[in-house]
Amino acid sequence: MLLNTTTEQNIDAIVDASVSQYGMLLTGRDPFAHPAIGDQGEDSIMTPTKRSFLLGKYSQQVGIQNAKQVTDAHLMHAVTTGQLQVTEGDAALMQSANERTLRALRRKADDWKKQIRDVVDEADSLWQGILAQAAVGIGATLVGAGALGVQRSGALDTLASRVQGTDEGVMGGMDTLVQTELAGHLQLGQISGVDQDEYVYKVPRIVAERYCKLLHLEDDGSYKRYRLADVLGNSNYGLPASAWDFTIGPVHPHCYCILYREVEMAADDQPEYQADPRG
Ligand SMILES: [Zn+2]
Repeated sequence: MLLNTTTEQNIDAIVDASVSQYGMLLTGRDPFAHPAIGDQGEDSIMTPTKRSFLLGKYSQQVGIQNAKQVTDAHLMHAVTTGQLQVTEGDAALMQSANERTLRALRRKADDWKKQIRDVVDEADSLWQGILAQAAVGIGATLVGAGALGVQRSGALDTLASRVQGTDEGVMGGMDTLVQTELAGHLQLGQISGVDQDEYVYKVPRIVAERYCKLLHLEDDGSYKRYRLADVLGNSNYGLPASAWDFTIGPVHPHCYCILYREVEMAADDQPEYQADPRG
């Protein structure tokens, strides 16, 4: 073995610790902790997921374009003055949305560990090959043993840089996960408490995925409308692009299509945001 078992266990622990931190920062909860019974102290913390949800809910009053530019101070002011009311239904939605985010993080941790393990296994079998070759050349001289040591440290260096490459790839994917999750919380806030007979639509960016445009635009370029009751609970997780459905939340990772309610001011007619004097 190129690495011993303890080293591999340490790699797992490092991955879990890193993903735990993401969970705490995003949701105020550790994705690997058993959910505590009763108060988890979530209510008092303005986590990024909660902030996104509340901004989504606030957009029901000010429009989504304006809500996206609302500052934390303004949002807190709206909550404390009761201008933005957080209902029990909101709290339940926020909690289930957080659970979905924590699940996504656990999947990411598993994926990350598997990637590293694959790299380690591959390096290990290469190393076994080198050892087998060396065994064939027995009469092994001291020089031969020295050369083997050099080869081993070379193999470890290669392994280290490949693990690092894996980490960089995963961290890039982590940014996508964070952005995608926050967009999901925002859109859930947008429809929290909204009549399920209402219609919603999405405005894709010019650079949006072809399949997003197919979902969101009619042939004449107008927006496709969906009845909320028909699309609530849709999820595209694990589906190929050709099978994507309209979702509350991003259609796919890195989807920045903006959700609107039909009763809201039309997407193209929302006023410019007026900076809040409170900052
Ligand atoms: Zn999209």
